[in-house]
Amino acid sequence: MNSVNAGGSLLDLRTSNAIRVLDLIAEHGPMHRAEIARRARISRTTITTITRDLVNRGILSKATHRPQGQDVDGRAGDQLAFSPDAGRVAGINQVLDRICVRVTDLMGEEVAAMETSIGAKDDWRTRADAATELLDAALEKGGGAREDLLGVGIGLPGQINPSDGIVHGALADQPWHGINARTEMGKRLGVPVFIENNVRLETIAEAKWGAGRGIQNLMYVNISSGIAAGFLFGTELYRGSLGGGGELGHVSIDINGPACRCGNRGCIVLFAGAPAIISRLTATMGGSVTMTDVLTAVAAGNRAAENVLAEAGTMLGRLLASMCNLLNPERIVVGGQTSLAGAILLDPIRENVFRYALTPSAALDVVASELGGGPEAGAAGGTALALSKLTTAPQMLERLFNGAVSARA
Ligand SMILES: [Zn+2]
Repeated sequence: MNSVNAGGSLLDLRTSNAIRVLDLIAEHGPMHRAEIARRARISRTTITTITRDLVNRGILSKATHRPQGQDVDGRAGDQLAFSPDAGRVAGINQVLDRICVRVTDLMGEEVAAMETSIGAKDDWRTRADAATELLDAALEKGGGAREDLLGVGIGLPGQINPSDGIVHGALADQPWHGINARTEMGKRLGVPVFIENNVRLETIAEAKWGAGRGIQNLMYVNISSGIAAGFLFGTELYRGSLGGGGELGHVSIDINGPACRCGNRGCIVLFAGAPAIISRLTATMGGSVTMTDVLTAVAAGNRAAENVLAEAGTMLGRLLASMCNLLNPERIVVGGQTSLAGAILLDPIRENVFRYALTPSAALDVVASELGGGPEAGAAGGTALALSKLTTAPQMLERLFNGAVSARA
């Protein structure tokens, strides 16, 4: 971070086109000056001046690696990217019993990743402190420190109100329920924080680095203990008015069905969530069976396990077909622990989606997640969320331009 020169007001920057240049590189990866000029519709001369200033500030530098999938053109050395010293972002993802942290540079390249287990009954303060400690450890592992951070994306269970950062829950027994996670984590970390639901973060990660790349209208579904979805419309995450958009698990598929702890009856999670799958298999597989055991049984060709998962897939497929009729996504990405069962779950989902959705099958596909939908995927999504705020969150921009060290002084 020492290479970042202090000085230069944000006002100056706003009157310049520097932010457009940074946005282009953030979105498309390393780029030649000529291409920046073409895409930004700014003259080559102006781009040369702007990029020289950004290089002098230590924000941009010559690209040291080639982005994935790009053809070798022999000129990679002339491409500009965010300097590895320009700052870092982090993603923290908390689920019931684990915290995962990922630290990346501003090109999204992983610098360090760590995880730790937490008690399922730990309160939010214990979780917040454990997350802070783990983040510091990961920063240190990557050869950096807290002052290198420009921003942190944090994933939590529940519905996070985008306007005030307060966590609500479909279920009020979640540790963060009613807590202003943005304020509390911001206080502990001293850097800009962005709070988002776990599954919504996985959606962003899948869109940036996984099976949702290049998809404009994406539906991501996580099938594990709970069932939840994330929607990207025109590449923007849909949150709903209170951050509750995507609570798929509590959509009722049977109004006379069993009572759910959310207060409804017949929620899909009661039929296709991991506890439901497990309870249907305890008679044949034993009382202490876990989802990992079920997946192992499926891999070994256990018919009872296969049948239960296929039935869950059928129910999920019919529900997702209705979702397609409401939202018309072009791709459904299926992740989460249960999805690791593979074709035995995915095939009936796909079959029922295609049978019952009005969308022509040529205009829709249903694919497995590439990032798996585990807590690590949410941490990756946290970094993607923070990176997406780089030029729009004033505090992050300020840290980027003034150098995080001087901003803290
Ligand atoms: Zn419910």
